[in-house]
Amino acid sequence: MSYLLSSQQLKYNVQKMKDKQLLLDRRYLRMAAIWAENSYCHRRKVGALLVKDKAIISDGFNGTPSGFPNICEDNSGSTHPYVLHAEANAITKVARSNNSSEGSTLYVTTSPCMECSKLIIQAGIRRVVFSELYRITDGLDLLHAAGVETLHLPLDGHPELPFISEGSLPFDEEKL
Ligand SMILES: [Zn+2]
Repeated sequence: MSYLLSSQQLKYNVQKMKDKQLLLDRRYLRMAAIWAENSYCHRRKVGALLVKDKAIISDGFNGTPSGFPNICEDNSGSTHPYVLHAEANAITKVARSNNSSEGSTLYVTTSPCMECSKLIIQAGIRRVVFSELYRITDGLDLLHAAGVETLHLPLDGHPELPFISEGSLPFDEEKL
């Protein structure tokens, strides 16, 4: 009996792993989108989750630093310069915990800006999965240059959405 996998079996197994990862990516992104609802900012609500070894190790949404009033915009509707982005809140939250962001995946509802991308690189985050592509993409360019893997995964209702029927996946969800 051979223990070697045929190339067909190997291809099937690799595809199964990719499908499984995509399913998890979509679920964590949906959770990040729900987390964005915590934001009291009016212009844009962004949510972020840091996941490592299948555990959520941190979370964040855009808002003012601790101790500041929960108001993101001034009277003219411009965002206060001291508002922290969701990614920055998730990264600084893990910095105060016993966890490490090294090798983790960041799920964020909007693609990261330049400032957050610098933090992402320095925090040792390996992957960034986002649902909405922000019009300014210099942050993504920086992530690419640093070798951080990025994945644009639009959520429901988007025409480019790679459709996955959760009921028909060829693997046992119990083992996720
Ligand atoms: Zn940012």
